[in-house]
Parts: sequence; structure tokens; C-alpha cells
Amino acid sequence: MQKKYQVDRGCTFCATCMYECPAEAISMGTGGAVIDTQKCTGCGICYANCASEAISFVEIKSTVEARPSTK
Ligand code: SF4
Ligand code: SF4
Repeated sequence: MQKKYQVDRGCTFCATCMYECPAEAISMGTGGAVIDTQKCTGCGICYANCASEAISFVEIKSTVEARPSTK
């Protein structure tokens, strides 16, 4: 099962999550904090420390990696 954190609406650009992230997976973009899902380890520190509750946690139960070829 894949875990994923994402920043939704409500980010106040406080940058707390960026400094708290041990994986350095968060940067500040024009619309607010951005989480690099390739670097994110899913620790949840950003989620727990965001005072604006702008970060949400999404669990992806199954993903289809590739479609079978129809050739
Ligand atoms: S801690 Fe929350 S409000 Fe602050 S920059 Fe991160 S997502 Fe935005
Ligand atoms: S869940 Fe952890 S590793 Fe991922 S962005 Fe938040 S603080 Fe960084």
C-alpha cells in the first residue's frame, strides 16, 4: 500500500514543514508548500506540524502500473 502526503488549500507559506522534513522533500512553490513524493518517506512529521491543516494524507490501496498491450 502506498502512502502519500499532499498539500491542499490553506497553506500560509509559514515554511514550518519545509524545515521540519527530515528528507528535505518539501520546497516552497508559488501556490504554497510542495512535497516531492519521490523523496518523501511518509513519516508524517509535516502533517503533524502544519498549524493550518493544509497537509492531507492519502492512502492509495492499489495502482495499475501498466495496461496490457493490445497489439
Ligand atoms: S506547515 Fe502547512 S501552512 Fe506551513 S508551509 Fe507547510 S503546508 Fe504550508
Ligand atoms: S511525510 Fe515526512 S518525509 Fe514526507 S514530506 Fe512530510 S515530513 Fe517530509
